[in-house]
Amino acid sequence: MNYETVIGLEVHVQLATRTKMFCACRAEFGAEPNTLVCPVCLGLPGALPVVNKRAFDHAIKAALAFHAKVARHTKFDRKNYFYPDLPKAYQISQFDMPYCAGGWLEIGQNGDAKRIGITRIHLEEDAGKLLHSTDHRASAVDLNRCGTPLLEIVSEPDLRSPAEAHQYLTNLKLTLKYLGVSDCNMEEGSLRCDANVSIRPVGQEKFGVKVEIKNLNSFRAVEKALAHEVVRHREVIEAGGTIRQETRLWDEAAGVTRLLRSKEQAHDYRYFPDPDLPVVEIGEAWVREVAAEIPELPLAKIARYQREMGLSRYDAEVICDEQPLSLFFDETARLFPDSPKKVANWVTQDFKANLNARRLAVAHSPVTPARLAELIRLVEQGEVQKLKAKEILEAMFDDDRPVEAIVDSRGGRAVRDAGAMESLAEKAIAAAPRAWQDYLGGKEAALKSLVGQCMKLSRGAADPKALPAIFERIRARPHAQPLFPKP
Ligand SMILES: [Zn+2]
Repeated sequence: MNYETVIGLEVHVQLATRTKMFCACRAEFGAEPNTLVCPVCLGLPGALPVVNKRAFDHAIKAALAFHAKVARHTKFDRKNYFYPDLPKAYQISQFDMPYCAGGWLEIGQNGDAKRIGITRIHLEEDAGKLLHSTDHRASAVDLNRCGTPLLEIVSEPDLRSPAEAHQYLTNLKLTLKYLGVSDCNMEEGSLRCDANVSIRPVGQEKFGVKVEIKNLNSFRAVEKALAHEVVRHREVIEAGGTIRQETRLWDEAAGVTRLLRSKEQAHDYRYFPDPDLPVVEIGEAWVREVAAEIPELPLAKIARYQREMGLSRYDAEVICDEQPLSLFFDETARLFPDSPKKVANWVTQDFKANLNARRLAVAHSPVTPARLAELIRLVEQGEVQKLKAKEILEAMFDDDRPVEAIVDSRGGRAVRDAGAMESLAEKAIAAAPRAWQDYLGGKEAALKSLVGQCMKLSRGAADPKALPAIFERIRARPHAQPLFPKP
């Protein structure tokens, strides 16, 4: 039987605010345990929370980017449960009045583009972190993370393969990073993902029993765990068994999922409105103000690069993978508008390779868009030897003199002197008499091999753009024909 895979993802992202969601403690990763705390985030009696406006700005920005409708009024609710990393014994979250509704995120492109629905996005605070001793006899708690602002983004069960789940996460992360609302660093826990998966016979409308997978530490792990789970479901069903609704943990080392707990009954968190927090009114002016800060988003940019600049999808994706790199590309392409494709080649290949080799961020690159555009212009105009161009770019990373000075100091200037070019052309004619004869006979295609011959003889130093005119001149000499009689 053929089965269809059904996947939904629940993502938590930490919002990039300076302080926590309801207090003035710094929201920071890696500090000494329990140093970033106060009576509010420790839940001490009498302490009162105050909403972080910046967290709301970020959240609204994300809602707009995901095509969700921002609510006019929103409130916070207490989600009650006990756990040692939650000193208040409730988490401030949003229940029936989240700050936005609906939305979608696109995956795929052009012909295979697909909208993945977003069920809900809401704001909440994070809990602390438990650290367990290696002998499993004791646990310690670090409450620094308590009260850090989170956005919970739940997708519809619209994803149909582990690869689609991977793409959804990639696009989600890229969008949030462009918005500047989260660094989405999975290693530091600022992006966490749980996955729900089930399978059903193709054509069946009713969903199969779903299993939740946790402990997914990378997008790759999400994809692998889902693929594993899909196979497991099929094997259980085909052996006559049934899938139970349960939560499983991904064991990265073993490459399998393991049962964590069965989910027979739904938790009742006894949500109720937090009496310490007011209903937040989100006026149109506020939404407009936030909307004005949204930059061109990556998916739109990737599409535009292909449509307007003729870049390949691959190049467009490589450039847009990092917003600073795409801004660098935009500026370089603006300064050298003749060929965005050539600029893309330089940016995605040699420029990026040099940054990587030096472990440099784009923002710290000593090669600015203006300098790269200058080099590309010199190469394209035939002023610089193509074969030396890479070497010159590399030198530019350690040498801040003007590009032309670096070109000269490296002997990278193309040979353009008329006399030298002419004698080079004559040598090429002697080396390739056949091509010369074809050229004399009117075969313009033979010119290419003559120019190639010149480049070979000069080891790339000649300016290939100037050569056709020189061959043309030699052909026009009165004695050109008799020098090479027909065989
Ligand atoms: Zn605090």
